[in-house]
Amino acid sequence: MAEVLVLVDHADGAVKKVTHELLTLARRLGEPSAVVVGPGADVTLDGLREHGAVKAYVVDGDGSGGFADHVVAPQVEALAAVVERSAPSAVLVASTPEGKEVAARLAVRLGSGLVTDAVEVVPAGSDLVTTQSVFGGSTVVRSRVTHGVPVVTVRPNSTTPEPAPAAGERVDVAVTLSEQARSTRVLERTAAERTGRPELSEASIVVSGGRGVGSAEGFGPVEALADVLGAAVGASRAATDAGWYPHQFQVGQTGKTVSPQLYIANGISGAIQHRAGMQTSKTIVVVNKDPEAPLFEIADFGVVGDLHTVLPQAVDEIRRRKA
Ligand SMILES: Cc1cc2nc3c(=O)[nH]c(=O)nc-3n(C[C@H](O)[C@H](O)[C@H](O)COP(=O)(O)OP(=O)(O)OC[C@H]3O[C@@H](n4cnc5c(N)ncnc54)[C@H](O)[C@@H]3O)c2cc1C
Repeated sequence: MAEVLVLVDHADGAVKKVTHELLTLARRLGEPSAVVVGPGADVTLDGLREHGAVKAYVVDGDGSGGFADHVVAPQVEALAAVVERSAPSAVLVASTPEGKEVAARLAVRLGSGLVTDAVEVVPAGSDLVTTQSVFGGSTVVRSRVTHGVPVVTVRPNSTTPEPAPAAGERVDVAVTLSEQARSTRVLERTAAERTGRPELSEASIVVSGGRGVGSAEGFGPVEALADVLGAAVGASRAATDAGWYPHQFQVGQTGKTVSPQLYIANGISGAIQHRAGMQTSKTIVVVNKDPEAPLFEIADFGVVGDLHTVLPQAVDEIRRRKA
């Protein structure tokens, strides 16, 4: 069975959940092999094995420090070296801004076709067929790469990660980085502000607020509900554009795509661009004072009411039951 390479998305010794999703997906297409670029392989391999990596290619530097700096060009050279060695049937990369840049550069280097933002990848004979959800989720596109090794970026939360222990045999690959790849280096890093809540695109529960919260302070009840549930907080673009909540928490076509077990939308009408980022959530709860709000159409459970009344009551009740 041909190998399917998965580029591991990792930082500070922790593998992002999306990598386990990609390994799960890769199992349906062939034999999954993880590619770990940069330092930290020792702490990441166990999770990769648990999620089905039959091999783990480790490319950790040529002494130049290029991988520790973790810019995109060295990752591309590393991944290209592993592709050359393993002749895979496909390469899967997380659809993050960095992942998409790596994938695009790799596809050019290999002379291969590229599909970005796939939400599904299925085998079709000796090929694979990808599905993309475009124009705000209103159109579904199915594609097949016809040239070279298909390079596919897959959106986080498109697949539920399923453990399936495998050998995860470590294969060290030596790569000598080109001058060009080493010409750009990260000189300084600023840690992102931590909210103490789960990362939005990886959270299993997301509580979001829209224009209906009324102000930046209006996010108080949304955050309170998120905190009793151990959830991440999201926002509609109306709320982020108004400056009520930071843009990095925007959910939708031009924001993050989430697919949690539970999505609770508060004061959000349900514009197609917002739905594009959350409509694959497993259970959708909507709180809106307008019974005609379009988001009710895709809700599993709806509450018609003022969120400033409903949410504090929900928080009190959850606290009471927890106690
Ligand atoms: C190219 C493009 C890309 C876009 N990308 C995105 C995107 O990524 N994400 C996104 O979200 N939007 C996006 N938008 C914007 C989108 O079209 C909508 O304008 C936006 O989603 C509306 O946000 P909202 O639902 O919070 O506000 P509104 O549509 O104004 O809805 C507010 C809702 O709150 C309800 N409400 C008011 N007060 C209360 C209360 N006290 N209690 C309960 N309910 C209350 C109202 O009944 C209403 O339903 C995009 C638009 C374009 C053109």
